[in-house]
Amino acid sequence: MLEELKSAVIQIGRQAQRDGLCKHKSGNFSARDAETGYFVITPSAVDREVLTPEDMIVMDVDCHVIEYRKGLRPSSESLMHAAVYRSRPELRGIVHTHSKYATVFATLGRAIPPMVNEMMALNNKDFYIRVAEYGRAGTRQLADNVAAALKDADCALMYAHGAIAVDAQNIEGAYLKACYIEEMAEVYHHVLAISQGKEAPILPFEELHDWGYPEEIKF
Ligand SMILES: [Zn+2]
Repeated sequence: MLEELKSAVIQIGRQAQRDGLCKHKSGNFSARDAETGYFVITPSAVDREVLTPEDMIVMDVDCHVIEYRKGLRPSSESLMHAAVYRSRPELRGIVHTHSKYATVFATLGRAIPPMVNEMMALNNKDFYIRVAEYGRAGTRQLADNVAAALKDADCALMYAHGAIAVDAQNIEGAYLKACYIEEMAEVYHHVLAISQGKEAPILPFEELHDWGYPEEIKF
């Protein structure tokens, strides 16, 4: 079942691995079906390059496994995906990575401020990429803390762990945001390094909030 979603999740997993966002089998990916409410998630500890649709796990948001291949288990962070889908039923995709620069700031518990225009695209209420409170990997505590951080944001860091991005359209949208998180974290790192730790200048809230597509472009 949900063959199209399975292919989409595999493709994004492979892309993330090739882009260096989830080395060494880290991170996990899911997409949710609007009709059944089930989500498709990557199995635990399988290299993304060798994943097949039969390897993908189908679950419901109460963490019941609906479909799986013998010998494979859903990602140990499935509780987190389920909690986020329960908290925001409109979501269709979740991408969780341990991408390097994002994890540096997650380890410091330091939010990434809105330094550049791109941060508009993250759909975070105040444009900061905030840090979800700590919870041990795979636990309900982590799931609840991450769901709370994503209540009014599509992107967050996870304290001492990594990053997470969600999207209401599809998993491709969530992946794009995961890429932005990593890019912003890298930019922030360089800003702090060059300015010897001085905080980055931030763009005013209105500057990001009031942006619109240029009216001068006529169709
Ligand atoms: Zn993780």
